[in-house]
Amino acid sequence: MAAVGAGAAGLMASIWAARRCPGWTVLALDGAERLGAKILVAGGGRCNVTNAEVRAKDYWGGSRRVVQRVLAAWPVSETVAFFETLGVSLHAEEGGKLFPNTHRARTVLDALLRAAREAGVRLVTGCRVTGLERTAAGFVLTTGGGPVWARTVVLATGGLALPRSGSDGTGYRLAEALGHTLVPPTPALVPLVLGGEFHRPLAGVSHPVEVTVRAEGERPVTLGGSLLWTHFGVSGPVVLNASRHWLRAQLAGRAATVTTNLLPGERFETAEAAWQRRTAAQPRQSVQGALADLLPARVAEAVLTELRIDPRVPLAHLPRDGRRRLLNALLAWPLPVRGSRGYNYAEVTAGGIPLDEIDPATLQSRVCPGLFPVGEILDVDGRIGGFNFQWAWSSGYVAAEGVAAALD
Ligand SMILES: Cc1cc2nc3c(=O)[nH]c(=O)nc-3n(C[C@H](O)[C@H](O)[C@H](O)COP(=O)(O)OP(=O)(O)OC[C@H]3O[C@@H](n4cnc5c(N)ncnc54)[C@H](O)[C@@H]3O)c2cc1C
Repeated sequence: MAAVGAGAAGLMASIWAARRCPGWTVLALDGAERLGAKILVAGGGRCNVTNAEVRAKDYWGGSRRVVQRVLAAWPVSETVAFFETLGVSLHAEEGGKLFPNTHRARTVLDALLRAAREAGVRLVTGCRVTGLERTAAGFVLTTGGGPVWARTVVLATGGLALPRSGSDGTGYRLAEALGHTLVPPTPALVPLVLGGEFHRPLAGVSHPVEVTVRAEGERPVTLGGSLLWTHFGVSGPVVLNASRHWLRAQLAGRAATVTTNLLPGERFETAEAAWQRRTAAQPRQSVQGALADLLPARVAEAVLTELRIDPRVPLAHLPRDGRRRLLNALLAWPLPVRGSRGYNYAEVTAGGIPLDEIDPATLQSRVCPGLFPVGEILDVDGRIGGFNFQWAWSSGYVAAEGVAAALD
C-alpha cells in the first residue's frame, strides 16, 4: 500500500494498514521535507486532537449518514485510547476540546511517527506524487524519485488550506485523473474581511455573539460563540464556523447576508422587556452606561456612534423609536462581508471528493477500485474544536481496514 500524503489521515491509515497487513510493504510518501506541519501548528501549537463529543452534525459538506458511519467505526473513545497507548494522554478543555497533557503538538506528531516506524511503515519525505495511474496490477505513482508501484493507494493529500504546509490541491488533480468528480472547494474555518470602517477601531476586542448567515433560497444558519474584531474584519470561533456558509453561498452565486446578534440569546421581546425594566430601575443611567453592561465598552461606543444616538442621553429620555432602533440594530448588526482571508489563513477546505463516490464501509473509491481517499480531500469539513482531526483519524482508520480487506 502507498499513502500519498503523510499528514494526520495518511499517518493514521499507514499505521493501521501496516499493523493489519504485516506481510505487505506500507509506504507513506509526502512532498514535504518535514512531516506534520499542520499537526504542529494546530490548536495554537498545542494540537486540539479531538473533542469529547463528536457527532455527524458537527460536520458540513457531504452526507451526514456517511460521516456518522465512519465516526462510528472509529469513535472518540478509540482516538483517546489509541493516543494513550502511544504515551499521549489527553485532557478536556472548554467546549470539550481534547489536548495532550504536555500542551505540545510535537508530542502528538512524535508519537504518530514513532508508531508508524514501529509498525514498519516506510516514511518517505520530500517525495511529491505528481501522477497516479491505474494498471491491471494496481497503481503506478509518478514521483521525483522515479515511479512507485502499489496494489492499493490511500489518497491523503489534504485540501488547499495552508498551502505552505504542502497541500496545494495536487491531490484533487490526481483524483480527477482517476475518474472522480469534485465538489468545488472553498476555504472554511477562515476569518472574514469586512468593508466599511466600523470594525477598525474595535481590533482586538472579543465577545460572545450569534452570527446568522442568510443565503438566498436556503435556511438561515445561526451559530453562537466568540467573535474577534480585527483590523481587516472579523475572526474568532463563531466567525470561522460561519465562514463556510457565506463562502459556499458565494460559490453557488446566491446572495448572502451576515448579521450578528450582539446580545446572544436575546430576541426582540426579551431584550425590550429587559431594557424597560432597566429604564424603570435606573432612569438616569446613560444609554452608553446601560449598553456597556451588555457589551464591551468599545463596541457599545462604536454602535451608538454608528446609529447617531447620543451616548449620554439618560435611559428615561430615550424615545420609544430610538430604543427600538437600537435594539433591532443590536440584534441584527450587519457585517458587510467582502470576502475571506483565503486559503493561507483557512484551517480547512470545504468541498472535495463527493462522499457518494466512496463506499462508506471501507472508504474505497466506487470509481477507481483500490483507491482510498481519506481526510480533508473528501467533501467533509468540521467545525472548530478538534472535529477535523477526528475526521482524519476515523477516515484513516476505516480506509486501513478497507485496504487490509482488499489485500487479504
Ligand atoms: C492553522 C491550522 C490549525 C488547525 N488546528 C486544528 C486543530 O487544533 N484541531 C483540528 O481538529 N483541526 C485543526 N486543523 C485542521 C487539520 O489540521 C486538518 O483537518 C487535518 O490536518 C487534515 O488532515 P489530512 O491528513 O487530510 O491533510 P493534511 O494534514 O493537509 O496532510 C496532507 C499531507 O499531504 C502532503 N501532500 C499533499 N499533496 C501531496 C502530493 N502530491 N504528494 C505527496 N504528498 C502530498 C502534504 O505535504 C501534507 O503533509 C488546523 C488547520 C490549520 C491550517
